[in-house]
Amino acid sequence: MIHMKDVWKTYPNGVMAINGINVDIDKGEFVYVVGPSGAGKSTFIKMMYREEKPTRGDIIINRNNLVKVKERHIPYIRRNIGVIFQDFKLLPNLSVYENVAFAMEVIEESKSNIRRRVMKVLEIVRLKNKARFFPHEISGGEQQRVAIARAIVNNPSVLIADEPTGNLDPETSWEIMHILEEINERGTTIVMATHNKEIVNTLRKRVIAIEDGRIARDEVKGDYGYER
Ligand code: ADP
Ligand code: ADP
Repeated sequence: MIHMKDVWKTYPNGVMAINGINVDIDKGEFVYVVGPSGAGKSTFIKMMYREEKPTRGDIIINRNNLVKVKERHIPYIRRNIGVIFQDFKLLPNLSVYENVAFAMEVIEESKSNIRRRVMKVLEIVRLKNKARFFPHEISGGEQQRVAIARAIVNNPSVLIADEPTGNLDPETSWEIMHILEEINERGTTIVMATHNKEIVNTLRKRVIAIEDGRIARDEVKGDYGYER
């Protein structure tokens, strides 16, 4: 479902971040992307949701070539790709409910359908009781759960996570991982960049290690492989 073919990325300042990557990720896989700082993990992941465009090569997600897609079609592509970040990126002036509803395709959806769907995803992340709260009134782990709800509200086939536990304590990180596992078990493909050695070595999944912009390892149930 995700197919990267001979992908290269050089930034305008000349930094060669990705140097010839070929990779296939099947529907329903859960993949960790690991590697040293500056290795190209973020760039690799940003190209998957078209935040960055490769200099060369093709990235095909669900038959759409992200490299060739016209600017005006990008929003349609993005709807099928949920994204979460280390720093959550919630809208501070909207409630939990509104942060999730805001991301929904609102055109031609009745208010009651929107409400049903938003409450459904808040239930998946176990935050139904905090729907009226604002981001500053809830914990970091709860904020990340809101971000997850927002990312899955349109039922994307892929969820991209860029260091989702980077700002969380170990216990909260595990809560987030269990929610991501549940979402993955319902069929959503997950690609997660992480520095969390304990999680990678405990909750074994496919590991893609990037070093100097190349794939250094690709293992079915791999380990983290670095000191930290
Ligand atoms: P985000 O994750 O929201 O894209 P970043 O902190 O990665 O935010 O980037 C913020 C801005 O800084 C972007 O315009 C990005 O292109 C630029 N940027 C990020 N990293 C570098 C870097 N190593 N060298 C030069 N510019 C960078
Ligand atoms: P990682 O996520 O593994 O730390 P990145 O993909 O952020 O790696 O960075 C790979 C390389 O590209 C680094 O040398 C970084 O400084 C550079 N880089 C990242 N973003 C930008 C940018 N927007 N402009 C220029 N260089 C960047």
